[in-house]
Amino acid sequence: MTTDGTGSDFIGYPHRHLLGIEGLTASEIRYLLDLSESYVDLNSRSDGRDGDPRCRLLAGRTLVNLFFENSTRTLTSFELAGKLLGAEVINMAVATSSVKKGETLIDTAMTLNAMHPDLLVVRHDQSGAAKLLSEKVNCAVINAGDGSHEHPTQALLDALTVRQVKGRLEGLIVAICGDIMHSRVARSNIHLLGTMGAQVRVIGPPTLMPPKIERLGVASFIDMRAGLKDADIVMMLRLQVERMQGAYVPSIREYFRFFGLDYDKLGEAKDDAIIMHPGPMNRGVEIDSEVADDYGRSLIRQQVEMGVTVRMAVLDALTRQIRVERKDED
Ligand code: ASP
Repeated sequence: MTTDGTGSDFIGYPHRHLLGIEGLTASEIRYLLDLSESYVDLNSRSDGRDGDPRCRLLAGRTLVNLFFENSTRTLTSFELAGKLLGAEVINMAVATSSVKKGETLIDTAMTLNAMHPDLLVVRHDQSGAAKLLSEKVNCAVINAGDGSHEHPTQALLDALTVRQVKGRLEGLIVAICGDIMHSRVARSNIHLLGTMGAQVRVIGPPTLMPPKIERLGVASFIDMRAGLKDADIVMMLRLQVERMQGAYVPSIREYFRFFGLDYDKLGEAKDDAIIMHPGPMNRGVEIDSEVADDYGRSLIRQQVEMGVTVRMAVLDALTRQIRVERKDED
């Protein structure tokens, strides 16, 4: 238990960093989702946000986005979330930085550390990179995707989107389909959904299924129709070709035939099943274009919107924790 600076007992998010979902408790996850809920209006407001005190929440704080891998949604939404809360946001363009001249991750971290940021958002192609950085710098670190390991804010935004539509996570049957092996989104979602009491299934070809995946508490299927049976949520994943060495699927056509989501296969899921995808989406590979654009069932646009909301909440939660730590030091 810690305090929120007002003297009241407060069990929120008592960690300095957000490196992954694995290891978080159900109440910590629920706290982050509830906090995110409270930011929905700030994000979606179209009548201007002037005068809302939350817009100054991060005033005087510096947020550095350090992305070693490409990103559209995650980078933009962290930038927007930081700016909406009043932070100074700096996007480190890694392509033009010293990293391209051979500076190591740790050298880069130490350089950034010397500039005293408060929050560092990092994406890297190596699993464990965010954790390594968190051990070297003084600021709060948020993992925005490390190799095929974790992508915690994606799982949080997915959970928030599901909660808004279905009203709960507990008891839902969630089918995660595609390249499970290389997907950090799958791993973070498996941890979050399992912790929150959902029933998780993973579906994919044997070549893209990590060995002993059942140890994470999921049921695995190589027959997509069987895996989709009565599912409430269908989460599609991209083939992460950038992490593949060699051929994992015989051909795109073949892959779509067995693992691409079309109306025919979707018919196995519940009538009110919803469709999700973290993006970027490869139409005609893992998902049929018409299904992806079926806004009665596809929540892909809401996921992007919830991305900003969740990231505001995460920045808020970590900043509260910084305040608690500083108070404890006094
Ligand atoms: N955008 C997600 C990620 O960074 C999913 C993907 O790239 O397919 O992991």
